This record gives sequence, structure tokens and C-alpha cells, in this order.
Amino acid sequence: MRGRRVGVFGGTFDPPHIGHLVAAQRALETLDLDEVLMVVAHDPWQKSGDRHITPAATRLELVSAAVAGVADLTASSVEIDRGGPTYTVDTLETLRAADPDVELFLILGADAAARIPTWHRAGDLAALCTVVVVDRPGAAADGVIDAPMLHVEVPLLEVSSTDLRARAAAGRSIRFLVPDAVAELVDSHGLYRAGPGSRVSADDQH
Ligand code: ATP
Ligand code: MG
Repeated sequence: MRGRRVGVFGGTFDPPHIGHLVAAQRALETLDLDEVLMVVAHDPWQKSGDRHITPAATRLELVSAAVAGVADLTASSVEIDRGGPTYTVDTLETLRAADPDVELFLILGADAAARIPTWHRAGDLAALCTVVVVDRPGAAADGVIDAPMLHVEVPLLEVSSTDLRARAAAGRSIRFLVPDAVAELVDSHGLYRAGPGSRVSADDQH
């Protein structure tokens, strides 16, 4: 029996949006995966100096809501459970240790794939997984690792969490760019609001 084929799609997901979901679904189908794990970064160390990042538990809640009832897409807390800075190699090793027969596919948008050379222990990735790059507007990622990379074509969706946070901060709607359940949680938690209206205090940061 072949091992389970599992996609690992990591992100800050602050918030998760249709670009993430379409990419995960396409990878699932194109590569005939059994499951795609949407792995919520605990502490995205390459981002954490730059801006306020929504607490990991809240981002996990958003991703869980985004995939609720969606077959074969799963919110994963593996990086949050481990704590500390988020290194993808550690995550792959954890998943491999839990199921030695698993075949892992690391799914990345082209912008994220282009940054692989800056990652912790980047040279160990190829032995742990197959790297899969999905299209993202304005980014290309050729030859960033010393191993074959798969490419999955996805419809180009010009949406980013950065834009969504800016829209929410400006009081504009994010409807249709995120699942309804995500929009409702962003609203009820008061996420991304500019100024004193924000209910996420500095104390919640990790
Ligand atoms: P931010 O603007 O805060 O960086 P983001 O929209 O880039 O947010 P991330 O959580 O940084 O989202 O990305 C997680 C993964 O999803 C990365 O591999 C990224 O390349 C990919 N991704 C994000 N948006 C898209 C999109 N519109 N199309 C394809 N891949 C995407
Ligand atoms: Mg990003």
C-alpha cells in the first residue's frame, strides 16, 4: 500500500483568503493528494519584526473556519503546538516522525518559494518532501532549490492578506475575498481595525 500523500501548505494566514483555498484545492486535485494541511505558522520569524501579527490561536480559528466542512483540507496546529519560531523543516520532520510512510508535498506560492534560500536548514528540504510551487501574480521561483520542483497551475488571484488587512483597516469590505465565516470572525474579533477600535491588544502578541 502506498503511503499517504499529504500536502503541507504553510502560512501566516492573517487572514486566510480565496487565493490560499484555491491553491490548496488545485494542489489536492492535481497531485492526487489524500489531504492538504493548512499549517498555521506559530511565529513567522521572517515577518514578526515588521508588523503586528494576529495571535496564532486566532489565526488557527480563522483557518479552521475557512476549511470547515471542506473535504480533505485541514487546519493544522502542528507548528503552534510545537511553539517557538516556525521552521518548515521542523514541521516536515514532525509529520514524518508521526507517520514514517507519509509522502510530503510542500506547497508554496511562487513568492514564498523564491525565499527558500533564506530559510533555516534550506538544504535539508529536498530529502524530506517534494517542493510544489503554485502560481502567484507577480512572482517567479525557478531554480531556488537543488532538486526538482513540481509546478501546479492555479488561476491567478490577485489577493493577499496584506491587502485584506488594509481594506478592513479602512473600513472596506473583504466579502467574497474570504469565506463568509472568516469575514464574520474578522468582524466579531475586531481584527485589523485601525487605532483604538482594535480589540487585539499588545498583550495578545507572542
Ligand atoms: P501577506 O500579504 O501577509 O504576506 P499572503 O496573502 O502572502 O499574506 P501568506 O500567509 O503569507 O499569505 O501565504 C501563505 C502561502 O500562500 C504562501 O506560500 C503564499 O505564496 C501563498 N499565497 C498567498 N496568496 C496567494 C495567492 N493569491 N495565490 C497563490 N498563492 C498564494
Ligand atoms: Mg505572504
